[in-house]
Amino acid sequence: MYDFDLLVIGSGPGGQKAAVAAAKLGRRVAVVERVDMVGGVCINTGTIPSKTLREAVLYLTGLSQRETYGQSYRLKDDITVADLAARTQHVIRREIDVIRNQLSRNRIRLIGGTGRFADPHTITVTDHNGRESSVTAAKIVIAVGTRPARPAGVAFDERTVVDSDGILNLEQVPNSMVVVGAGVIGIEYASMFAALGTKVTVVERRDRMLDFCDLEIVEALKYHLRDLAVTFRFGEAVASVERHPRGAIAVLESGKRIAADTVMYSAGRQGTADALSLELAGLSADSRGRIKVDEWFRSDVPHIYAVGDVIGFPALASTSMEQGRLAGHHACDEPVRELSQQQPIGIYSIPEISFIGRTEDELTAARVPFEVGVARYRELARGQIIGDSYGMLKLLVSPSDRSLLGVHIFGTDATELVHIGQAVMGCNGSVDYLVDAVFNYPTLAEAYKVAALDAMNKLRHIAQLPQ
Ligand SMILES: Cc1cc2nc3c(=O)[nH]c(=O)nc-3n(C[C@H](O)[C@H](O)[C@H](O)COP(=O)(O)OP(=O)(O)OC[C@H]3O[C@@H](n4cnc5c(N)ncnc54)[C@H](O)[C@@H]3O)c2cc1C
Repeated sequence: MYDFDLLVIGSGPGGQKAAVAAAKLGRRVAVVERVDMVGGVCINTGTIPSKTLREAVLYLTGLSQRETYGQSYRLKDDITVADLAARTQHVIRREIDVIRNQLSRNRIRLIGGTGRFADPHTITVTDHNGRESSVTAAKIVIAVGTRPARPAGVAFDERTVVDSDGILNLEQVPNSMVVVGAGVIGIEYASMFAALGTKVTVVERRDRMLDFCDLEIVEALKYHLRDLAVTFRFGEAVASVERHPRGAIAVLESGKRIAADTVMYSAGRQGTADALSLELAGLSADSRGRIKVDEWFRSDVPHIYAVGDVIGFPALASTSMEQGRLAGHHACDEPVRELSQQQPIGIYSIPEISFIGRTEDELTAARVPFEVGVARYRELARGQIIGDSYGMLKLLVSPSDRSLLGVHIFGTDATELVHIGQAVMGCNGSVDYLVDAVFNYPTLAEAYKVAALDAMNKLRHIAQLPQ
């Protein structure tokens, strides 16, 4: 009766995984996507380019080797945009190829163009030549993601005043830069450009940054970024940007004027559901272009699902993939479990941050007692070998049952290491497991054992005090 059992709009992480999940269950599946955006924001303008750029910056600047070889150590003195782009373009091309291959291997039809609803089961697709066609499906997954939010009144010119998409197309590495907004994306790019030697000023309206992270770790990051000549202007906002032939001046509401070659706005993201003619499917989006869903990612129209950034928090590629898989299975009547509540957060600042579970502040506010176990990379042989003396791993442990309440990591490989803590927490393990486990030596993973012993020693000390 329909052309497809499942039709997915958008080929980012959420859309891909929904499509693959349904195809693996033998359903007829198609994905609608613009020909130049296969892989979504994730592959083309977001996660993958930014993380590859970071890797190129770390490699070419030699930043992570300077503790060993001295502060003047560099792999290349004049790092150009071409040096950086070579690596990002290579990885993007390979990733697109992997995705195209995965779709075709699973017999998922890729329909090139932009989709919008004609009715609850019909999508009109407009291809890059403006030609229209229609396709019908029993179930539909909306995975259209977001675009950078652009504050009204700011004249983006893709050269001097840019957003997180435009930053990837700069013609040269700027000498100075203002980053507007100290969210994850703003701080990641501030780190990368500071490592390249750009004089970065971060302007943030609030008086804190990354307030969902462990406070001690955010303080450590700020210290490191200041060491790379980053200036923070908290409690300040950019009132206007004056453009000049050789750059711009960011004028703050307080009257301060900051000269910069480039001003990068990182002012949140706007869902793209507003372009889908949702009303023809009986749906609507909120003012930020997002769609409301239930725990199975169903919209108000039960055969239409939505996953990924278009449903809002946490708006990560990591969670979008899992939402897609769950929605795909649910749409195919496959038994599914709810999305795990324990999700890791990774921030690819320099140095990087990762955590899972609750922060000290959250536990204190909820009056949940905890003990802290800390391991510092400089006390680990691996930390010395790789030249990371600042990294740390912190375990928050329940004194009553010794379960792990949170794992917070700062430093090399934090985003990889967090998954050990995630596995222990996910299997309801306790800090005892980490005390008893034998870790490869010398590794950074050993930090878990050191931190676990630290927490256990403190707990034992309290238990041994006379009542
Ligand atoms: C700079 C940056 C860095 C990031 N870093 C990380 C990170 O390190 N880790 C992490 O987990 N997440 C990161 N993210 C977030 C991550 O990229 C997103 O969470 C993820 O891409 C969202 O996936 P999605 O499935 O919602 O689709 P998206 O990747 O947002 O893709 C949506 C796709 O839908 C398509 N589309 C839109 N409308 C239509 C339509 N009408 N018809 C057809 N197709 C349409 C678009 O062309 C696009 O390709 C980052 C984001 C940015 C911007």
